Amino acid sequence: MQDRETDGHRARKRFGQNFLSDPNIIRRIIDAIRPKEGDIMVEIGPGLGAMTTPLIERLGHLNVVEIDRDLIARLRETWTPEQLTIHEGDALKFDFGSLGSPLRVVGNLPYNISTPILFHLSTFADRVKDMTFMLQKEVVMRMVAEPGTEEYGRLSVMLQYRFRMARVFDVPPGAFRPAPKVMSSIVRMAPLPPEELGARDEALLGQIVTAAFGQRRKTLRNTLKDFLGEADFAALGLDPGLRGERLSVAEFVAIANHVAAARAG
Ligand code: SAM
Repeated sequence: MQDRETDGHRARKRFGQNFLSDPNIIRRIIDAIRPKEGDIMVEIGPGLGAMTTPLIERLGHLNVVEIDRDLIARLRETWTPEQLTIHEGDALKFDFGSLGSPLRVVGNLPYNISTPILFHLSTFADRVKDMTFMLQKEVVMRMVAEPGTEEYGRLSVMLQYRFRMARVFDVPPGAFRPAPKVMSSIVRMAPLPPEELGARDEALLGQIVTAAFGQRRKTLRNTLKDFLGEADFAALGLDPGLRGERLSVAEFVAIANHVAAARAG
């Protein structure tokens, strides 16, 4: 993909810039978000404003986080501070907790940083009402994947642990300028209530899930040998000959809690 001019702006590959240009798709995304006046909302990567304009029209006020200075200058010329609060910088480092709660998060995310953005946003889940994103379809399929499928992995487990998620609809490359090489999808994420989370030590859960999927072809006996022995597998009622992709989110939580309890003595 070459850097190309869109609406007088040269799209920057390093910022994952593919601008939505299909009015029908934009309308469908806004309908899926259902913005209401008074909602506290932040858009990640407003770009040339394809979604920003209809969002401000419905909300009255919107926050945006944008890294590209040229685009920030254009946004400043178009909107008043009463309509748009611009947070200049990297969404990966942004404190989403500073915007108030319950926060609604939306964005046609830069695909080159989609996984780290999702993990960063997970840390603010207790202050978030919902999130609606455009992502590569392949990433969305991994987010919503069921155990036992090829797409099921660390991203599926860690996000499904914290969020209820649904793929809303797919968006073809032709809806963007410049057109990306891949299909995209809209995904909706709603944080689960804290009482449904259940892991005593979430960092430990993350370590166990990472280990279980680190070498996908190996069995749990091998990938989790630093955490579980044969007696632990028996106590958990788990077959050590399985691979990580067979385990449900609840089973990963049970393993993490068993290890946490053993470590606590
Ligand atoms: N929302 C616009 C649209 O739908 O046409 C633009 C979407 S474009 C795929 C991604 C946007 O995210 C660009 O505006 C880009 O400059 C911005 N961006 C890229 N990396 C970013 C980061 N780390 N933090 C904040 N914004 C970023």
